[in-house]
Amino acid sequence: MTDFSATRSLFEIPDGLVYLDGNSLGPLPRKATQRVSQAMEREWGSMLITAWNKARWMEMPSRLGDRIARLIGASAGTVVTGDTLSIKVYQALAAGLELNPDRRVVLSDTGNFPTDLYMAEGLLRQLGDGYRLKTVEPDQVAHHIDDSVAVLMLTEVDYRTGRKHDMAALTAAAHTNGVIAMWDLAHSAGALPVDLTGADADFAVGCTYKFLNGGPGAPAFIYVAPRYADRVRPALSGWLGHEAPFAFDLDYRPGEGIERMRVGTPPILQMVALDAALDAWDGVDLADLRACSIELGQRFVAGVEANCPQLRLVSPRDPQQRGSQISFAFEHGYAAMQALIADDVIGDFRAPDIMRFGITPLYLNESDIDEAVSRLTRIMSQKLWDQPDFHRRAAVT
Ligand SMILES: *Cc1c(COP(=O)(O)O)cnc(C)c1O
Repeated sequence: MTDFSATRSLFEIPDGLVYLDGNSLGPLPRKATQRVSQAMEREWGSMLITAWNKARWMEMPSRLGDRIARLIGASAGTVVTGDTLSIKVYQALAAGLELNPDRRVVLSDTGNFPTDLYMAEGLLRQLGDGYRLKTVEPDQVAHHIDDSVAVLMLTEVDYRTGRKHDMAALTAAAHTNGVIAMWDLAHSAGALPVDLTGADADFAVGCTYKFLNGGPGAPAFIYVAPRYADRVRPALSGWLGHEAPFAFDLDYRPGEGIERMRVGTPPILQMVALDAALDAWDGVDLADLRACSIELGQRFVAGVEANCPQLRLVSPRDPQQRGSQISFAFEHGYAAMQALIADDVIGDFRAPDIMRFGITPLYLNESDIDEAVSRLTRIMSQKLWDQPDFHRRAAVT
């Protein structure tokens, strides 16, 4: 059994604070501070440009990719890190479309995160030629997978409700219809066990600043199934995805396998922080993580429903049908969340009325959950949220 009190001690969490927003930005891993400062002093400071070789900076995107691979059911050499998730969505979708050149439809759902849909729109507009994005209700996706669809582009876990798609079943349906299946794991990686190999996914992308705790602006990752790794032609054909970047050829030749999905210079300091954050996963069994996440989640749901009748559960009640977050709808959810944050319980708000709580066993235990329920109960029962300060919207909600 994974020792979650040991993993908790690896993170910097202010005293008295209950942090329920690790689904948006994971907390600071204690080691990251020292590791980043060492990289600055010993590597950047002392080695300067020679650190690309001496400190092996150039290998970091794939070395970190291999570390993430273990957490998403991928084999070594199939994942690379870099850029932002929005960019990785573009890359994967462009590559998928090129593998299915006779079809013009990208199928997604209305529960997808907007940037995924925006990136698809931009790409499809540039491609022209009849390409279009079709979005349907999440529970209708399976009915729309047919031989007009080139790529099925879904996010496994809905960022608002936590509803989880059946990756294996939808991927199988896609393949039966000759459709390429591409999965966004933003709310899956580090949240629950993922088995890309078992599900036979074609492409996957995700970010590392949410459940993987890599820090604000940490690089994204991309997975390409081994059968396609040497076939895909990168749309973002940057020099570091070239077969020989330092040959400085005038023509682009894609690098070997997943390396071709690199684009430009990697953010090394951010990668050093991510490397430190990934250490926390070394002794973690993802089945234990899932069991603990479900237990804490059920405890939270039961506590809130027993004490806060104003809040309505919008996450699936069956824990197998959701990721690792719990969402409640409340008309004044924004103000209620601000009042809760003022009382040192941090969650977040997603328009129009959703209060969102991330459940992260690496650094949350039962007493955190009970404490969060008790502070939320006080705020709701005494209507403490109804103050002008709590109604004022900030730029980031
Ligand atoms: C968080 C999230 C993003 C964010 O994209 P960035 O480019 O990293 O800002 C994209 N897609 C999904 C599904 C997300 O949950």
